Amino acid sequence: MTVIEQESTYRFAEVVFPIAVDHPFTYLIPAKFAQDIVPGIRVLVPFGPRKITGFVVGGKNESRLKEHKAIEEVLDPIPLFTEEVLAAAKWIADYYMCGWGEVLKAALPAGIHLSSQKAVRLVHTDPRQILAHIGKKAPRQAQIVKLLMDKNPLTIRELERELKAKQPYQSLKNLAEQGIIRFELALPRPKTSKKFETFVKINPAHIQDNLEQIIETLSPKAPKQAQCLKTMIAFPGKDFTRPELARLAKADGSAINKLIDRGILYVSEEEVYRDYYAGKKVEPPPHIVLNPHQATALNRIRQQIDSGDFGAFLLHGVTGSGKTQVYIEAIHHTLAKGKTAIVLVPEIALTPQMVSRFRSHFGDKVAVFHSRMSPGERYDSWRRTWEGLHRIVIGPRSAIFAPLKNIGLIAVDEEHETSYKQHDLTPRYNARDVAIVRANISKAVVVLGSATPALESYFNAQEGKYELLTLPQRIDNIEMPEITIQDMLKEPRIIGRKEPVIISRLMRQKIDEKLAKGEQIILFLNRRGFATLLKCKDCTYVAKCRNCDITLTYHIRGKILKCHYCGYIKRAPDYCPECHGVDIFFKGVGTQRVEEELHRLFPGVSAVRMDLDTTRGKWSHDRILSQFGRGEYNILLGTQMVAKGLDFPNVTLVGVISADTELYFPDFRSSERTFQLLTQVAGRAGRKNKKGEVVIQTYSPDHFSILCAKTHDYHRFVEKELADRRVLGYPPYSRMVNVLFRGENQSSVEKVAQLVASFIRKQQGIKVLGPAPSPISRIKGNYRWQILFMSLKQTDLGGRGMKDAIRAAFEAFKEKHRAYKVHISLDVDPLSIL
Ligand code: ADP
Ligand code: ZN
Repeated sequence: MTVIEQESTYRFAEVVFPIAVDHPFTYLIPAKFAQDIVPGIRVLVPFGPRKITGFVVGGKNESRLKEHKAIEEVLDPIPLFTEEVLAAAKWIADYYMCGWGEVLKAALPAGIHLSSQKAVRLVHTDPRQILAHIGKKAPRQAQIVKLLMDKNPLTIRELERELKAKQPYQSLKNLAEQGIIRFELALPRPKTSKKFETFVKINPAHIQDNLEQIIETLSPKAPKQAQCLKTMIAFPGKDFTRPELARLAKADGSAINKLIDRGILYVSEEEVYRDYYAGKKVEPPPHIVLNPHQATALNRIRQQIDSGDFGAFLLHGVTGSGKTQVYIEAIHHTLAKGKTAIVLVPEIALTPQMVSRFRSHFGDKVAVFHSRMSPGERYDSWRRTWEGLHRIVIGPRSAIFAPLKNIGLIAVDEEHETSYKQHDLTPRYNARDVAIVRANISKAVVVLGSATPALESYFNAQEGKYELLTLPQRIDNIEMPEITIQDMLKEPRIIGRKEPVIISRLMRQKIDEKLAKGEQIILFLNRRGFATLLKCKDCTYVAKCRNCDITLTYHIRGKILKCHYCGYIKRAPDYCPECHGVDIFFKGVGTQRVEEELHRLFPGVSAVRMDLDTTRGKWSHDRILSQFGRGEYNILLGTQMVAKGLDFPNVTLVGVISADTELYFPDFRSSERTFQLLTQVAGRAGRKNKKGEVVIQTYSPDHFSILCAKTHDYHRFVEKELADRRVLGYPPYSRMVNVLFRGENQSSVEKVAQLVASFIRKQQGIKVLGPAPSPISRIKGNYRWQILFMSLKQTDLGGRGMKDAIRAAFEAFKEKHRAYKVHISLDVDPLSIL
């Protein structure tokens, strides 16, 4: 599949921008740039009244337009994107219905888009010999080499200045092709490589309601101080350095100091890094001989790599069956063939254990990306990869855009994970599916690995799109853990307590047993905070967010109520704000509440909690895990952060506090999620010589997701679930597009949604569900309505028909929805419809 022609002597360039437009724009290539403009570089062009940066995606010699604007400047000496990434981005734009340029922007690390500078570095070891060789033939090249012998590297700007000439690109390209120089990207370095930075933070004693009062009192006498506080409220969760706060609040240091003196703010010192893994020790890899199942799987993958053709595998292996080891061996083989590899890992499974395992095999050939890196670190890693200094990229979904050349292998670990789908921002792509496309374009091999493959993937394997490879046993034939289901309806309430039981007698007894043996325990509950609901017993009052249609979660630290959607915070009331009754109570257990219960039931036992609230600091996630690994805690309690990828030999009990959190979600995938989550978390129990046990607490002990998880029966689960989906026409038998309408005026939102729905209803073969208010009908002050479209794969391959109909509807009502101020967003293959 070649979308872009290699030749560069075109008259016109096709340019895309990070906007929601589905076609490129045509610009004239001035003669002076004829050699420089190739697909994948950025250019500066006039666009309306402004000049903006765009990406060149192709060229042509004919144009139907009468007039053309010309490209004003060339921003890159060599392309930022390979032909393959450009083509993959085009596929994403088509499939997920967004702009090609929007995808390209998302494929770059933040900050690179405008602020980067190109540089060149002399890399030849004997430049004098070069000079003797090319001096006469190519005086411009010789001049460049001389300049670089004085100062290495030089930015393109500096070179242009020294050469007193514009666009020395042709000479530079020739030098690069001969291996004499190398192109680099240079970002202005931080002035000093400080290890610590001081942040100012709001004293947790002063929460939002209270703060508003403080601001009111301060405003007349000390407006600067008030302004500082207002600024901090405007960015909930952001860490401010003093200068940053002063700048944003247009205040000075003394206003901040006074706030600190008054105890409203406090100062906190925190470590900052730029190379995330700088100074981390790398252990040599253990000597591992693959077992026969692993060897069979690896052989098939190697054969496919050797064939030089695209191929996709679904590696279905139970937890701890050695899937990761298979990826590692396959990467060794890929590198030996002179090719490169991408490994996608869900963000929360990208633990220090995982990273050091890869680094022990491949050292600095590996670039790791994850969200806890600073923009600078991420930028630096991206840049080094682009320069060809890394051969393997490991990271969460955006790593699928890694600027590697000559890709031979893409492995997607835990391929069923919903975090591969970007659901909140354009492009709303699923990196697992993009992996297939990118591999196809590059004639590479894809391995999708999971203990609980997504129904879509299992279905594709059945249809012959993927080749199925299985690892049916755990390494060393360690037994699967024994799972017991505890019916919570049968658990008697504790005398004198209103609320339901959090930890059953069975769970308590098992925990006691393991503690007595000095073994460790993981407890899992997929809900953070203390309680999900604050309710009044006397009236109907429930604490809700003022901006969103969602109940507020109670957090015990600071005794606050918090919205998990918009960050709104208020102090928990002592009595009902409506009827003034004092009988206010909590419903719905969160991890904080479990933690409190653990302290009550097992005094003196050390437990650590890991959820979004305890892992905000940069290293806190890694720190909690390594402390638990060293045995500093008996119990690790957490949300799905503890369910994935952890491998602690001393953990012999996994307790699921409630299996029901996912089960009753209004989503057709809730059974699948529950089965996957329970299987994953159960997989954390038991290692060599220590059989693992799992206790699952539930109010639905007969639900087939839970029963199949208990018997480790993936096949029974998928067969029944597939049968159900077939009857209902849900994915994988159909494709879905969820269209979300939002705006401040509810009736406009509804109106536009109705128009679009009735337009598409006229079309044959498309099922239209809605329009209806979204399950969360208001977020951050915006009303939300949605329509879910479905079309069967049998009749509408690739969902073309459905997408064309949606495009036509948008085109028809373009003016209307703008006039109504309704914002529309689209999610193709949605994984969540909240
Ligand atoms: P998975 O990715 O399926 O969870 P891993 O590849 O992480 O499994 O393997 C689980 C553990 O077993 C790891 O500690 C790994 O080093 C080890 N392991 C993997 N393959 C073998 C093998 N063939 N022999 C011995 N140990 C192995
Ligand atoms: Zn809210």
